[in-house]
Amino acid sequence: MNAFEKLAFFRQSMAFEDPEPPTRSVGNSTGTLEPCPTGGTGSEDHPCDLKYPIYMAAMPGGRRIPILKTMLTSVCERNCNYCFFRSGRDISRQTLRPEELAGAFIQMAQKGLVQGMLLSSGIAGGGSQTQDRLLATAEILRNKYDFRGYLHLKLMPGAQQAQIERAMQLASRVSVNLEAPTTLHLQRLAPMKQLVEELVKPLQWVDQIRREKPIGPGGERRWPSSTTQFVVGAAGESDMDLLRASDYLHRNLHLRRIYYSGFTPLQGTPFENLPAAHPWRRVRLYQADFLLRDYGFSFEDFPFLQDGNLPLNIDPKLAWARQNFAEQPLEINHARLDELLRVPGVGPKGAKAILAARKKGKIKNMEELRRLGLRGGRMDAFILLDGRRPSFQPELW
Ligand code: SF4
Repeated sequence: MNAFEKLAFFRQSMAFEDPEPPTRSVGNSTGTLEPCPTGGTGSEDHPCDLKYPIYMAAMPGGRRIPILKTMLTSVCERNCNYCFFRSGRDISRQTLRPEELAGAFIQMAQKGLVQGMLLSSGIAGGGSQTQDRLLATAEILRNKYDFRGYLHLKLMPGAQQAQIERAMQLASRVSVNLEAPTTLHLQRLAPMKQLVEELVKPLQWVDQIRREKPIGPGGERRWPSSTTQFVVGAAGESDMDLLRASDYLHRNLHLRRIYYSGFTPLQGTPFENLPAAHPWRRVRLYQADFLLRDYGFSFEDFPFLQDGNLPLNIDPKLAWARQNFAEQPLEINHARLDELLRVPGVGPKGAKAILAARKKGKIKNMEELRRLGLRGGRMDAFILLDGRRPSFQPELW
């Protein structure tokens, strides 16, 4: 097979993957992947092509670009219980050499098919050797072909600190898939992986390098952002387990995004008879995660049920407000930034707009909030405007 045939092969092998987190209603979707919006018809006038593993990715600022999401090899010596590529499965596998993949990618970029790449790999010959091949691909792209676009590199379990620093010099983003929130849960999912030593450690090194060397090489660019992913619903982990781990990762390792991939059973794996994760579970986890990252919530704030999961039928911010503001609504004219961020319908931009408007005088009615870009409805039951509930304010139209 030539390189393009191998990429088409990977497209078919990766078709079961879960590319799009359900984040539209809950916040910024920077860095997420979506399938080709045309349905991937492969028409000549559209950059997405069903033949290859090309996805649309949202960049900082909202720009969306087509990226090639591929592996260097689908050979893997690990045996993660949920994975299509786990060792011992009787499937055909393919491997691309670094120069082969880099050359094919550049041809696709020159034709306008792709503007970036997310590069991962099965583990073959150990994590460190596999990382070397990912780095070799990135070196060819950056140094031989002078590719300056988006490049997301996966960090392999067992990669060395020096390899991670080099990956950070070459990539726009780096990531490690933790997959499970605790050692116990990871043992169920991926018996050959070690959570702290192999998976958390690289993320700690990423954060350490960013702190100790604040600007990238030559001072020309910033260090890349880092992300991770959990598999949701296969190992008996609760939402509390996941969000406790996410809270730690956001606060201490400064991850840009945490992805929650809903488990889907695959035939021929030890987990083939487990049920798929409930789709609303991911929605609630993403909502809670944004509250941890951008709204000052701690995982202890969430209204977990007795089984440690979030209720599926209510947004966690709304549930928190019902418990805390329903009897004692928040006076918008006196509230601090962190208090405003707890009100349903008020985001970081809206909270700052309220603080700026208060410098000019009291906010007395919903119309003034609407002029600041805030819509009533969700917040009405939880706030006071100059001592009165909004429902008691006179209508201005
Ligand atoms: S290491 Fe990655 S590719 Fe290999 S079995 Fe585990 S999840 Fe699959």
